Amino acid sequence: MNEVFLVAATVYVALIGLFLGSFINLAADRVPRGESVVSPRSHCRACGRVLDAVDLLPVLGYLIRGGRCASCRAPIGAGQPIVELVAGSTMLVPVLVVGLWPGALIGLAATAILGAAIVTAARRRAQT
Ligand SMILES: [Zn+2]
Repeated sequence: MNEVFLVAATVYVALIGLFLGSFINLAADRVPRGESVVSPRSHCRACGRVLDAVDLLPVLGYLIRGGRCASCRAPIGAGQPIVELVAGSTMLVPVLVVGLWPGALIGLAATAILGAAIVTAARRRAQT
């Protein structure tokens, strides 16, 4: 396997982790409320504005918007980019340690467990 492919694939795996983190945030927000994780499209809880491509960029969207909704300036919460970074790392670290394919599988399994744990914690928090 050549170096360029390996670097590109590693970056791709990390990006998948970041977007999975973004989905974990969505699920942790919606599942405790009994809402669908598919529809409606992601929107601000405060003003209802549908999020655009910039808002949906993991970590970067949060930084570009200064941690607030672009319309109503409601705070987004630092937990969102942190979960995205953690999920990105959960995908990336196994790839760096054990190599691309076994690492990607381990990372995917670990990220699924992370997501289940975060959503479960959010449900418990919502019940109390
Ligand atoms: Zn808003």
